Amino acid sequence: MHPSAECSERRRLRWQYREALRAYIDATDVLDPLEMGEEFDHAYNLATFARIEFERSREAYHRHVSEHGCS
Ligand SMILES: [Zn+2]
Repeated sequence: MHPSAECSERRRLRWQYREALRAYIDATDVLDPLEMGEEFDHAYNLATFARIEFERSREAYHRHVSEHGCS
């Protein structure tokens, strides 16, 4: 291990995690002004998928760091 060079897999996972977080925030921004109804339900489903994807990528990032020890 070279402590000065960041692990490329870690960098990739962190990028994915940030993209997923941004997508989740965007999805909740869409929800905010909507009234309850079909449009809201649709946007809510999209936000739920975005949240699951965000949690999955966050977990993958932390799992990699703890297993690989590249902190
Ligand atoms: Zn690593």
